[in-house]
Amino acid sequence: MSVSESSKICAQAFETGFFGPYGGQFVPESLKKVLDEVNDAFVTYRNDPEFKAELAGLFTHYCGRPSPIFHCRNLSRELGGAQIYLKREDLNHLGAHKINNTLGQVLLAKRMGKTRLVAETGAGQHGVATAATAALFGMKCVVYMGEEDMHRQALNVFRMRMMGAEVRAAMSGQRTLKEAVDEALNCFVNDPNMFYVLGSAVGPHPYPVMVRHFQSIIGREARNQSIEEIGRLPDYAIACVGGGSNSIGMFAGFLDDEVKLVGVEPGGKGPGYGEHAASLCKGRPGILHGFNGYVLQDERGNVAPVYSISAGLDYPGVGPEHCQLKDSGRAEYVTVTDAEAVDAFLTLSRKEGIIPALESSHALAYAMRIAPTLDKDKILMVCLSGRGDKDVAQISELLKNRA
Ligand SMILES: *Cc1c(COP(=O)(O)O)cnc(C)c1O
Repeated sequence: MSVSESSKICAQAFETGFFGPYGGQFVPESLKKVLDEVNDAFVTYRNDPEFKAELAGLFTHYCGRPSPIFHCRNLSRELGGAQIYLKREDLNHLGAHKINNTLGQVLLAKRMGKTRLVAETGAGQHGVATAATAALFGMKCVVYMGEEDMHRQALNVFRMRMMGAEVRAAMSGQRTLKEAVDEALNCFVNDPNMFYVLGSAVGPHPYPVMVRHFQSIIGREARNQSIEEIGRLPDYAIACVGGGSNSIGMFAGFLDDEVKLVGVEPGGKGPGYGEHAASLCKGRPGILHGFNGYVLQDERGNVAPVYSISAGLDYPGVGPEHCQLKDSGRAEYVTVTDAEAVDAFLTLSRKEGIIPALESSHALAYAMRIAPTLDKDKILMVCLSGRGDKDVAQISELLKNRA
């Protein structure tokens, strides 16, 4: 395995905070200080044998890792082309990939002597994972969630409160994920005992590299499982992109291989302003939440309103490593509409007895789109980032309205 240019750029980003022009720390001095403390701890512990052993133990005994890969034989047969495999992150404790990252970050917070955690959440999945991890480590936890999302994902609000977290509504702007991040950052900078558990590969350095580091278990496992169980690497690795954490975790395993990497963004209702959340496909570089990356914005540079059927994907920015991977051409980014995602959601449920998260359904929908155009011996590895139980009520409402 030769080390690719993309891997070299990533290794540099661990030091500099920049993936080419993307990333960085575009924040006030007060925030820079606390970010530097987090970075020092991350540098100290990420290769520390004791830290690594503790995290590995939690992955095994708390998450249920390794998550398996699964060959969708029925679905692949019906589509009549490439073989679709799933990396089953939906089988993790709490039903999504988010727990991989919260365990890593909270372990770090503990090493730093922090006693309180703050997190933002969109669909509620990251909030739930942070609440669970806080309960496990006996730490106090505040989660900011857009008021709009609290309605859309009421079950996750109950789950967080059940595990002892305080859920606070973000009331400004669109009242979704972007506003929740603003509130959480504010809280972080004003309390020296607070650690900010960021849920995606976004934000100021070191968060993008830190989240990537903890989520790269997905791609590492998927690569080994492909070799051991299928006998070769997949032709494609496909994942949905909100902020970009499950996708960068998946891509990390295959960066140096001859594997096509495809990130799938939420195309929503259509390509118009405010109708989607496809930051890489439709945005342009700008600064949001303390880092430089592709941002959905109007001509004046105001952050655009975003929309997706899945609460976990409607963020107007995207992680800096993805921006660099797009520019270099190492990864390709595409969009899938709400309608295609719903179709994939229903199809996987019926064909394989697996109800996928609406977020993950975007990745699956793209695999279903290209599978018929490819030979039967081609392999598509799709990151099934989460399970869809949280979306069942929303989908049944939608089907009722259709009927
Ligand atoms: C949060 C979430 C996503 C989107 O976040 P990324 O950081 O882009 O991975 C995707 N799928 C599920 C199931 C989620 O909970």
